[in-house]
Amino acid sequence: MTIENISKQIKAPVTIVGAGMGGLVLARVLYLQGVPVTIYEAEASTAARTQGGKLDIHERDGQIALEIAELTNEFKAIIQEGGEASRVVDKEGNILLDDPDDGTHGRPEVLRGDLRNILLASLPEGTIQWDKKLTNIQTLRDGQHELTFADGSTVTTNVLVGADGAFSKVRPLLSEATPEYTGVASVETYLYDVDEKHTDAANIVGDGAMYALSPGKGFQAHREPNNIIHTYVSLKRSKAWFDEIDFENPETAIAQVAAEFEGWPKELTALINDSETAPVLRKVYALPIGHRWKHVPGVTLIGDAAHLMPPAGEGANLAMFDGAKLGQAIADNLDNIEEAIAEYEAPMFPRSEIAAANADEFLDVLLGEHAPFELAETLREALDGNE
Ligand SMILES: Cc1cc2nc3c(=O)[nH]c(=O)nc-3n(C[C@H](O)[C@H](O)[C@H](O)COP(=O)(O)OP(=O)(O)OC[C@H]3O[C@@H](n4cnc5c(N)ncnc54)[C@H](O)[C@@H]3O)c2cc1C
Repeated sequence: MTIENISKQIKAPVTIVGAGMGGLVLARVLYLQGVPVTIYEAEASTAARTQGGKLDIHERDGQIALEIAELTNEFKAIIQEGGEASRVVDKEGNILLDDPDDGTHGRPEVLRGDLRNILLASLPEGTIQWDKKLTNIQTLRDGQHELTFADGSTVTTNVLVGADGAFSKVRPLLSEATPEYTGVASVETYLYDVDEKHTDAANIVGDGAMYALSPGKGFQAHREPNNIIHTYVSLKRSKAWFDEIDFENPETAIAQVAAEFEGWPKELTALINDSETAPVLRKVYALPIGHRWKHVPGVTLIGDAAHLMPPAGEGANLAMFDGAKLGQAIADNLDNIEEAIAEYEAPMFPRSEIAAANADEFLDVLLGEHAPFELAETLREALDGNE
């Protein structure tokens, strides 16, 4: 089918809300198929927010999505060598498991910012409308929706995709579910020039990911390029407990969080005490496991908007996979958008239900009563399975 033919059948561009991993992959796949597409993104520009953190990109979903998006070569060029190493440590600093990166794990790591740059560069100028925060949606006739943005502008669409993350504005069109606090939050910190300035922390973290855990608390640290350690200090505590901490005052916030790790060795507590950035609180929310909805004409969700789950290394992979699969379904059903949405949603619901159950279980493995031994055992079993 030629691009001219496609343009005749799609009356208006496919409208995506949100330029995260899911929305960008969807836009890229539609663009490759010649389907008109526009993303409306709340952030003011590509540079509005630093895109910290590493993502491991899995063979079963993230890598397939990038292949469908014809970006495999670009992805291979940004892989961080050595990033797949992992280490599990107890609260005395004893190493329980030390798995070097031997290149056999099938989940190469990349920096989130690098991956996003590849996706942004793969879209033609003007595909993303920046500084367009969706504030209201009105359902019109025949599966059409009118979107209103914070700047007062409006747009009408007959294909609306909510790729707008955890607190999606599009989701209420389809479902009454709202994300619930999981009882866990992480405090994000960074150490710089670690080989020179933080050698003890650098030694315990090693070349990849390091988990230092005990029931209800722990450090998840990653060695990143340019001599950086990026840490999530996780605690199982109520929302009210975290709300008591004044994160506007970095020194007292660090002291209050660090107090939870009294008696832990200094190479571990350095990950909070010596933070060179103000600590950032990230409460972990999740949608109900198995979240789904009845088909609503002209609208669907991808990524966290559809199936927010605790971080277990899968969310960005799933968002990209959703985007690629929905893009293919739309391209295959250009004259029947409802069929395209149904074709995408049918396998997405069970796929994300399984992933959400696994993520929930992983959170328990990380911080449950058998931490850190259960994680060491789980990783060892996975390693044995790889051999
Ligand atoms: C601490 C932490 C660590 C994680 N680590 C990993 C990991 O290692 N591996 C992994 O695979 N996943 C990881 N995840 C999960 C992953 O980050 C998410 O699952 C993934 O980013 C979801 O992508 P998305 O495109 O659905 O949504 P998002 O990335 O959240 O993108 C949504 C976009 O929509 C925009 N938006 C929101 N509201 C509006 C609005 N009203 N109007 C317009 N635009 C709007 C936002 O600005 C944003 O750009 C982690 C998550 C957290 C919190």
